[in-house]
Order: sequence, then C-alpha cells, then structure tokens
Amino acid sequence: MQIGLTEQQAQQRLAQQGENRLAAAKRKRPLSIFLGQFRDVMVLILLAATVISALLGEITDAVTIILIVLLNAVLGFVQEYRTERTLEALSAMTAPTARVFRDGTLTTRPAAELVNGDVIRVEAGDRVPADCRILRCRGLFAEESVLTGESVPVGKHPGAPEDTDNAPGKDTLLYTGTGITQGAGEAVVIATGTATQMGQISSMLSQIEAGRTPLQERLGELGKTVAIICLAVCLIVFGAGVLRGEPVFDMLLTGITIAIAAIPEGLPATVTIALALAVNRMLRANALVNRLHAVETLGCTSVICSDKTGTITENRMTVTRLFAGGELYEVRGSGYRITGEIRLGKEICNPAAKPDLTALLRCGVLCSNAAIRTDREIRCRQRGSISAAGDWQVQGDPTEIALLVAASKAGVTARSLSGWKRMEEEPFDSDTRCMTVLARSGSRCTAFCKGAADVLLPRCAFYMQNGIPQPMTPAMRQSLTAQAQLLSGRALRVLALTEKDCDSLSAAEYGLTFLGFSGMEDPVRQEAKEAIRRCRSAQIRTVMITGDHPATAKAVAAQAGLLRGRQVLTGAELDDMPEETLRRQLDRYSVFARVSPAHKLRLVRAYRSRGEIVTMTGDGVNDAPAIKEADVGVAMGLTGTDVAKQAADVILLDDNFATLVGAVEQGRCIYANIRKFVRYLLSCNIGEVLTMFLGILMGMPMVLLPVQLLLVNLVTDGLPAIALGLEPPERGNMEKPPRRPEESFFSGGLLGTILLRGVLIGLSTLACFSLLLHMGCGVAGARTGALTTLVLSQLLHVFECKSEQKNIFTVPYLNNGKLVLAVLASLLCLFGAIYVPALQTVFSTVALSGAALLRAVGLSLAVPLVAALIPKGR
Ligand code: ATP
Repeated sequence: MQIGLTEQQAQQRLAQQGENRLAAAKRKRPLSIFLGQFRDVMVLILLAATVISALLGEITDAVTIILIVLLNAVLGFVQEYRTERTLEALSAMTAPTARVFRDGTLTTRPAAELVNGDVIRVEAGDRVPADCRILRCRGLFAEESVLTGESVPVGKHPGAPEDTDNAPGKDTLLYTGTGITQGAGEAVVIATGTATQMGQISSMLSQIEAGRTPLQERLGELGKTVAIICLAVCLIVFGAGVLRGEPVFDMLLTGITIAIAAIPEGLPATVTIALALAVNRMLRANALVNRLHAVETLGCTSVICSDKTGTITENRMTVTRLFAGGELYEVRGSGYRITGEIRLGKEICNPAAKPDLTALLRCGVLCSNAAIRTDREIRCRQRGSISAAGDWQVQGDPTEIALLVAASKAGVTARSLSGWKRMEEEPFDSDTRCMTVLARSGSRCTAFCKGAADVLLPRCAFYMQNGIPQPMTPAMRQSLTAQAQLLSGRALRVLALTEKDCDSLSAAEYGLTFLGFSGMEDPVRQEAKEAIRRCRSAQIRTVMITGDHPATAKAVAAQAGLLRGRQVLTGAELDDMPEETLRRQLDRYSVFARVSPAHKLRLVRAYRSRGEIVTMTGDGVNDAPAIKEADVGVAMGLTGTDVAKQAADVILLDDNFATLVGAVEQGRCIYANIRKFVRYLLSCNIGEVLTMFLGILMGMPMVLLPVQLLLVNLVTDGLPAIALGLEPPERGNMEKPPRRPEESFFSGGLLGTILLRGVLIGLSTLACFSLLLHMGCGVAGARTGALTTLVLSQLLHVFECKSEQKNIFTVPYLNNGKLVLAVLASLLCLFGAIYVPALQTVFSTVALSGAALLRAVGLSLAVPLVAALIPKGR
C-alpha cells in the first residue's frame, strides 16, 4: 500500500486548506510603505501650509515644496521597500522544511506545503512542521516547552487511527513547533497552519513581529530629545521673526521647514536600513542572520565559544592509523580519495592476512550509517553529504565515512559483508559517545560497538589477539589506554572498536571484546587559524568546546593557535568544580574537552556572569539551551539540526569559524557605520538650525528660504547618509577591544565632535551670507552663497565622518564608490539649482559670480581645516 498522499491529492487539499503557516506574515504593501512616508506630523503640517500658500498665490513655491516632499518620500519608500524585501527574503530562507511521502517516495518540501493526510518522517533534531498523529516510532521523545513551558522531553507513542483531534497534551501526537529530541518515527498530519495548537496560541504569534533592536530604541529616544530642542528653536525663530515684522505666514512656513530639515525623525528607520544592508552583506559571506539585534550584539562579542569538529577543523576525517592485534598500521591516502594502502612499518601489508585488522575494519563497516560509492549518487538524508571528483561519493557522518574509506582500502566493504543483516541499532549520541549495532550472519548474532576509547575500554573484558579473544588484564588495559593517549596526542580522533556475540543490545553493555583503535585526522581549517589570530588582536577570547578527547582537543587547539599557554578542562573536572571556582578560574582555560551539551550551558552562564558577551556555536538538539542562553547563539548550517537552527540568532551556512569571525567584524563595522551617519546627520542638522536661529537673532534677513532648506535636506541627508552606512570595515576595526553593550552611543567624545562641527557649519554659512551681503550681492545672492556653503561643507563633512581617527587629509576618499556617487549626485543638484535658469526661479537663487563662488567654497573648506587643527576627542 502506498504511504501518504499523491501529489495530486496534496495539491487539491492545499487549495482547500491553504498553506501551513502559523500566521500570514504581515507583509507590508508597497502603497502602505509609501503612505507611511507622510506619517510625520511635521510633513503633514508643511503640506497643509503649502496648500494655503498656493491658495494665496505662491504657486511656484508650493509646487516646489510638494515636489521635494514627494521626492523625499520616494527615496524613503525605495529604501524601506528594499529593507522589507531583504528581511522577508531572510525569513523565507530560514523557513522550515519537512520530509514527506508524496506518491510513495520520501521528499523534502517546504513545511508550508503540508496538508492533512500527509505522512511525514521525523527524527532527532527535527522541528515538528504540523500537528500530527504518530503512526510508527522508535524511542521518540519531543520537547514541548514552547507549548507547555515544560522542558523535560515527553515520550511519544503511536495513536489510534480514528484519532484526529489535536487537543493538547496527548502523547500520541506531535505538535507544531516542538522539537524531536530522540528517536525517529512517521506521523500523519491532522492539522496545519492556524488550526494547529501553536496557531491557536496567539501570544506566540506576536513573536513573529520583528522587534526593534536596543540601538534603534536608544536612537529613537535620542531623536525625540533632538526633536523637542528643534521645536523650541523653531518657536523662537518664528516668534523672533514675527516680532521683527516678517509676515506671519512666511515665518510659519520657515519654522515648519526648519523642523523638517532638522528633526532626525528618520534615525531609527535609517538604522534599520543600515542593519538590513549589513544582514545582506553577511549573507553573501555565508552568515545568515535570524534576528536583527544579533548584528549589534555580534560586534560586542568578547568570548567566542566554538565547536571543534567542522568549525575549527574541516570535518573531513581520514583514518591515518589503525591499531589491531598489538600492531600499529599506517593508512595512506588522504580525504575521500579512492587510492591508498595500508602499511605496517615500511611495508605495504596484505590486510587479508591480518585477521585482527580485518575484524577491526568489519566492525567499522557494520557499525555505521554512512555509505560510500564510486559510481552513482546516493539518495538518502544524512548529515554532511560531501562528494568530489576522483573521490568516493560519500553520505553520512564524516567519522563513519572515514572508517568506510579506510576499510575499502583493505577490501572490506558493505558488499563483502553483505552476509551480515542488521537487526537493531543504538544510535550515536554525544552524551553516550558510542554507537552499537546488532547484526546477524547465519547463526551468529553479534553486537558491534564503536565509540570514544575512554568510554569503551572500561567495558571490555577481552581483547582480540590473532583472531582469539584473550581476557583483558589491568596491564593490557593500561597499555591500551596509553596507546589511545599517544594517538590522541597527535591530534587524531581515536575511536575504540569492539564486538560481542550476544542476541540483544542490552547484553552489549559489558563484557565486550576490544578489536582495536582507529585514529583519524581532521585537518584544522587554514582560514580558522587566521580568524583565531584576528580574534586575538581584537581582544576576543576564542574558546574551543568539544566532545572529543582532551589530548586530541589540546593538539588541535595547539595547531589552530588558540592554546597559548592556557589549559584544557574536561567535562568531568567541570562537574567537580564549584560555581565560584569556575568563574574565578575561567581565564586559565581555552579548551573544554569531553563536555556534554549541559556543560556548554554552564559555561555560557559562567562567562556571562563575569560580564562577558558570549557568542556560542552548536549543532545538536541538546545544544539549543546553550545557544539560546548565549548573547549570540550560532547554529551550523550544514550539520546543524532544525532545533539548533531555530534557537539560533545566526546560522553559519558553511559551518566555518572564519565566517563567524567575519560576522563579528561586520557587527563591529555596522555599529561604527551607524555612529558615522548619526554623527553626520546630527552635525549637519545642528548646522542648519544654527544658521537659521543665529541669523534671526542677529537681525539678518532670513538666511535660507523654506524651499532652499528643503533642498539642503534632500541633497545632504538622504543618499550620502545611507552610503555612509555602507562603508567597508575600517582598518584597525579588529584591533581594538570589543565595545561594552552598555557603553554610551556617544562615547569617545562623539557628542563634542558633533556639536563643534554643527557650530562650525552654522558659523561658516552665516559668514558667507553676511560676506556676500556686504559685497553687494543682494539678499538672493547672499542666500545662494549660504546655500552653497551649507551644502558643500556638509558634503565635505561626509568624508570626514568616514573615520573617527582620521581627518580630511588622511581619510580614504574613494574606497566607498556609493558614497562618491551620492556626493556627486548631490553636487549636481546643488549646481543645477544655482545655474540652471528654470531652477533658479524655483529655488529663488541667482548665478554666483566667480568671486562670490570662491568665497562660498573657501568658507566651506575652512570648516574641515579648522576641525583638523582641533585635537580629536579619542
Ligand atoms: P564538537 O563537534 O563539539 O567539536 P565532536 O564532534 O568531537 O565535538 P562528538 O561528535 O560529540 O564531539 O563526539 C564525541 C566523541 O564520540 C568523539 O570523541 C568520538 O570518540 C565519539 N564519536 C564521534 N562520532 C562517533 C560515531 N559516529 N560513532 C561512535 N563514536 C563516535
């Protein structure tokens, strides 16, 4: 009988039932994004005032103002739309998948396509994609804390076929969003989307909305304070103008325009755009950011706790040593290469003549879920599938693949052992560190068990010598332990291989026969070494946390360059260490070996209690608590389970440590960039407000007209500020200590720099205005000069904002093409407004004479020159 639905049935049901989604993600429509640009009260008041001025006959002014406001809205819309789409694309990338039977074959589909009646397969590490009734299962446990708050996994059993009610708390059902912690099984979908238990819990749905990041909150607050100051200034300007006899309506328009030009109401939105752009950049570098706030926190990371296998090493295991029958063999050929031979001393040996070696390799092949082939591709779902030309096509856990490849070199293959039929399996588990398979060949039934040497040696009562089991003596056990230690010390992962003739898995707990060791090499990633060095210079501590043997871990850590005089602490030692001692002594260790996922959680907590900002990697189901607890939880994209990915803030698509360090660097860079554009925007705004404010107070004619102010706002605030957010990381970005998260945004004298620069911009604009007035350029000429100085000094300032250390003479001008283009576009707008006759009428400008232009340019140049003479705050 065919399992599950046919494709046609599924499509029909999908059309009736709708997609299996918890809540239709609130997708913002383009129109609402566009209209959102006019939500600002000030803009609305301006538009109203403009309409009134149009009615009063000021048609050109009114049309210009409306056009500029529209243009600004279009720019805002384009940016926000792109940001929305980026974030949407990201959530689509992390959308869950399901393994479902369609037309009788098991396929992987987006979980959204599941319908009632579909039969799915789940295994440890999966996240349940829909509410379903269990059909068959083996040792199945699910963690349902998202629904029940109870974190102890619940045992699951098959349910009655007539049961289609997805009431909560049934042990025959699996519920959407819960995680499978153990076992495997098949289940039939009985509820999808909002009909699931999860869909009914509305509080969960609120989590779907992306919250604002702490930085956005802080800048939002800042924006409000600045807005209040600006409004006060506007009132004063308005009042002073009216008292001086200026027309009330003109002053009203001026006041509102200053408010629009100066209030940084778009600050939090600009931060979102900058963060979204950073997220995009990180994605291109293989780091998928699940939650926006992680980008900020990554930059504060002071400790990175990394896995060893696959992250610091390549997870491309090769058996290089075999120990059997008291002899140490060398296995030649690296990686998954088809060629290679087995040597004893200098001689190539014939494995068939070595019964102990053959028994060892047989155990490696039978006690395995991996598969290797040289012909066609294998289709089965296992973790970490790798293949390359000239290599074996491989599928499965790299540790097991390495054993299969080594056995193949000796002619021991799944085919040559086809007489053995697998009966039962106790799968590998990071906690037990071993795996057992019960197999039968004719009348012989044998348990084959492989695992960590320190786990299995104590369970061995015999050892194999010339094909005959000999009783294990204390001396022999000691000598074997020493042998394992020796191999581990050479950075090899050592596995003990054992067997026992028995007819149940439980009988294979003790009394095993030791067959030998396999020592496998897993090269350290070259780029990881460099990344670890970069972390050191950035004063980020790298710590390796691994389930592997301490000696192997230590040797690998030394190769990767992260040991540096520090020590290795084992999980067992960790258990004996009181909390207080651990906290005090944490600095001594950079490797934690033979640790279980529970230890990881303890370590994260210990580091955090010392005020460290912890970034922690993980892949297994049991790593999820530690990933959640860390400031930035990171899951592995290739080998990680759904549960780990779900808990993580960042997913490393290539599992590579260097990618993680790159993401930290980007995190630092984006924070620096946000500081850059906040510095730029605020100092420019202060400059603009001061110009208008002081002008009025000093009894000058209005320095800039509302349309001119709006023009300044358009050409300086929009594109150049966004382009600053795209600055590449500055040199030296990874050579300073991490920022403290509680550190003030304006630390390092940023506020002083902003105020000073604002004052200088304001003064030079005023100076130009009064200079040109005295030169007899008339008010229109003086205004045009002031406009030129104001815009030019801001466009020069944008280059200064590229660095907090460098000044206008030392800053690299051309390393951000987008900024150069944005500045050129702004210049074009400015000179167009001054020299194109049609635009002159619109903006009430006049063509500047050479002398006037020279003064305007000179005064704007004076600003960075004066600033360069003033010593930096940091
Ligand atoms: P990490 O990925 O955290 O750096 P790890 O991958 O080395 O650590 P585990 O996969 O938990 O840690 O492995 C722990 C130990 O279990 C290994 O040192 C090895 O001895 C043993 N082991 C690993 N894989 C298998 C396997 N497939 N079968 C049997 N034993 C295994």
